[in-house]
Amino acid sequence: MTPFDAIIIGTGQAGPPLAKRFTAAGMKVAIVERKLFGGTCVNTGCTPTKTMVASAYAAHMARRAAEFGVTIPGAGAVSVDMRRVKERKDAISAASSVGLEKWLKHMENCTVYQGHARFESARVVSVGAETLTADRIFINVGGRALVPPMPGLEHVQYLTNSSMMDVDFLPPRLLVVGGSYVGLEFGQMFRRFGSEVTIIEMGPRLVQREDEDVSAAIADILKGQAIQLRLNATCIGFSRNGEDIVARVDCADGPNEVRGTHVLLAVGRRPNTDDLGLDKAGVELDKRGYIVVDDQCRTSATGIWALGDCNGKGAFTHTAYNDGEIVAANLLNNDSRRISDRIPAYGLYIDPPLGRAGLTEAEVRKTGRPALVSKRPMTKVSRALEKGESQGFMKIVVDADTHQILGAAILGVGGDEAVHCILDVMYAKAPYTVIERAVHIHPTVSELIPTMLGELQPLAS
Ligand SMILES: Cc1cc2nc3c(=O)[nH]c(=O)nc-3n(C[C@H](O)[C@H](O)[C@H](O)COP(=O)(O)OP(=O)(O)OC[C@H]3O[C@@H](n4cnc5c(N)ncnc54)[C@H](O)[C@@H]3O)c2cc1C
Repeated sequence: MTPFDAIIIGTGQAGPPLAKRFTAAGMKVAIVERKLFGGTCVNTGCTPTKTMVASAYAAHMARRAAEFGVTIPGAGAVSVDMRRVKERKDAISAASSVGLEKWLKHMENCTVYQGHARFESARVVSVGAETLTADRIFINVGGRALVPPMPGLEHVQYLTNSSMMDVDFLPPRLLVVGGSYVGLEFGQMFRRFGSEVTIIEMGPRLVQREDEDVSAAIADILKGQAIQLRLNATCIGFSRNGEDIVARVDCADGPNEVRGTHVLLAVGRRPNTDDLGLDKAGVELDKRGYIVVDDQCRTSATGIWALGDCNGKGAFTHTAYNDGEIVAANLLNNDSRRISDRIPAYGLYIDPPLGRAGLTEAEVRKTGRPALVSKRPMTKVSRALEKGESQGFMKIVVDADTHQILGAAILGVGGDEAVHCILDVMYAKAPYTVIERAVHIHPTVSELIPTMLGELQPLAS
């Protein structure tokens, strides 16, 4: 049995920085990875998808070139070389993954184990033939695509965000099951690559966690690019008809089946906690398999922490990384940082992107507190018009009494970046007037945020 001061399971977004912090503090650390260094974000999530979104954007802008007065003599219709798209994506992902692997393997006081880690007890972890022990164990095992038992799924070959990474061809007709963040990103990018795309969503609208006006604007953007939307698909099932995959959708409108050549399942995630031997360690799980943690990532078993997607407290790279910072601050710096200090914030990387911070308008309404709101279409943002990208809108909600900003949604060009000026003032707990009086740079999307804050209106009940 090899003793360590700390064992970290998984090299996602929390584990490696934590290994650096611990080893720098003089601790002897073991870190275990069963597959690809860097986990979901680097290999099958953020990095590859945003790389592919960039290829899709290039194709889109190439098709629009004439609108900007650009002509390419002799150029025919724009086509996309999917092998080149994949190569570019693979190179960028591999650089991160390989870089991380080297970094960990050269880290002083850190031993890397490659294999599947399993708890033998609350202090002992096995990796293949190796047995490791430590008084402190950190679980950073992430999650994978959820594949619910849909009727007929066994008769068709389906794709997930992971197997999508191997696609180096253009699926002629792609059915995307799931109209939320992952499904919409893949759906729009493949439409731009040249596939016919149908997005099948069980609910009555896309991205149901967002406000209705956000969902509606996103639906318009996607429909404008000839993406078919099948909402209210209450009873999804699959069968084959020759080469075709037939999806039964039972939609409120339109025929109740759609045909495609390929199916992508993007209906949610599940945590990688079912094969870790957590029962032997006395680590409690919730009903959906997420590890139950307190506000500082401690599990129900003393000496075991869970960080990142597997604790269900966040589903993003930045939340996983922040979990690592919280744990390091508590253990090394006597600084009692907490998950509840975090303000929800994320992006949806369709084009134009959605940048979100804090509460939605609907969530603010539910609190019943008096609030103010301001909304501006991107058609009233010079920078968006200059770029020829004026779809979407910006919305900010403010507490009428404290004047603190409660939430914002920026669906528009640069929205993923512009939302940060709002987010930072929310963290500062400063009143919105700080931004209202700030002089922002012209011409930017952010320059209209002070203007919007000067136009706040009571939120109608
Ligand atoms: C398609 C897609 C796009 C996304 N885009 C974004 C985005 O744009 N922005 C964003 O913030 N987030 C995005 N996410 C979410 C983001 O990828 C995750 O939130 C993030 O990667 C979670 O990090 P993590 O450290 O919790 O786990 P992971 O990154 O999943 O890492 C867990 C690691 O643990 C390893 N592991 C698991 N079990 C074991 C075991 N028993 N033994 C050894 N090793 C094990 C795994 O192999 C993996 O390497 C996206 C996700 C998907 C699927």
